[in-house]
Amino acid sequence: MTSALFARIDAAREDLIALTQDLIRIPTLNPPGHAYLEICEYLDHRLRSAGFQTRLIRAKDTPGDSDRYPRWNIIARREGQRPGETVHFNSHHDVVAVGEGWTHDPFTAPLIDGRIYGRGACDMKGGLAASIIAAEAFVAEHPDYAGAIEISATADEESGGYGGVAYLAEQGFYKGVDHVIIPEPLGHDRICLGHRGGWWAEIETKGEIAHGSMPFLGDCAVRHMGAVLSEFETKLFPAMAERRTDMPVVPEGARSSTMNINAIHGGQPEQEDDFTGLPAHNVPDRCRIQIDRRYLAEETYDGVRGEVTALLDGLKASRPKFDYTLNEINHVAPSMTDRQAPVVTTIHKAIEDVLGRAPDYVASPGTYDQKHIDRIGRLQNCIAYGPGVLELAHKPDEWVGVDDMIDSAKVMAHSLRQLLLDA
Ligand SMILES: [Zn+2]
Repeated sequence: MTSALFARIDAAREDLIALTQDLIRIPTLNPPGHAYLEICEYLDHRLRSAGFQTRLIRAKDTPGDSDRYPRWNIIARREGQRPGETVHFNSHHDVVAVGEGWTHDPFTAPLIDGRIYGRGACDMKGGLAASIIAAEAFVAEHPDYAGAIEISATADEESGGYGGVAYLAEQGFYKGVDHVIIPEPLGHDRICLGHRGGWWAEIETKGEIAHGSMPFLGDCAVRHMGAVLSEFETKLFPAMAERRTDMPVVPEGARSSTMNINAIHGGQPEQEDDFTGLPAHNVPDRCRIQIDRRYLAEETYDGVRGEVTALLDGLKASRPKFDYTLNEINHVAPSMTDRQAPVVTTIHKAIEDVLGRAPDYVASPGTYDQKHIDRIGRLQNCIAYGPGVLELAHKPDEWVGVDDMIDSAKVMAHSLRQLLLDA
């Protein structure tokens, strides 16, 4: 029964490879947001040929959108023969900077020993290609299906998704959607239920400038920041390390709360390497850090923010002349889809049927576009499932395995059977 569908996917192997290569060869670098229209037009042509109706949508005036780098998205939809549910595959089409250390050209997409190399191969043009092949095979094999299939390719996931999924959700594009599968590179046998939350902020301590030979006439903002860091070391980090989540976050270390200090700066700006002058001697009057706090489903945003401001306010009460400002940069709530949600049980069964074993459940240490589908789209039936090795994302010589894509495409197509035929 399923073998004809799977045979179609096996037969589409060369097409899958060519499609993945074509997508990688369009260098959708973010920043700045390059070639977004080009990749949407490519997909527009491909999906219209497969009977989808398409819409290209520019996320006007979202962060980074400009006439030079417009934030283009595409949503394609193919109606079935009768009423039913809508299954939506969402992939981001942007890729991160290339960086150093490549032994293959990042945008020619060579196929070597069953792997396609290139920036975006696993994160996530391989997943996008697999979902397209899955949908095309399903439609060809079961043209009488119920409901609808949607495939979207969206902008800017790598920089927060505000010109992509967030924009589409705000415009109401997820209103009639019942199931969302995001083919991020989790591997063909794992289901990603969600992600931790994130809170990003800048903290500045204040001081007073004076001559460096007479620091007692000023007030050193860097020493004040030292007191902040000392509070973090002795109180905040130990408290965070003790918290454990029930979320199946991988890697293991991310099952606790974490915080990175992304940057610190105080005093005179750093000089260029070729500057030959000597420094002037000043007491720094301000010092800044940027924090990246990742939090668990069991924590709250108010709690996370509150424990940082409580430490700062404690210093303000106890430390002479201490003052600070806290500037919030961004906040993303955790997202966690229930294991009994229909999209989860469907993919679970499909993985069992295709691979002959039960899937592992994971959650992501960092956020991805599920946050927008959950919070703005108000749909708690969304997971990440797709081909590729997560640890290769953003690295040099990123690759995706063709067999992995074939397996994932079978799982996706088999899920479509369960959701759009058996109902
Ligand atoms: Zn990604």
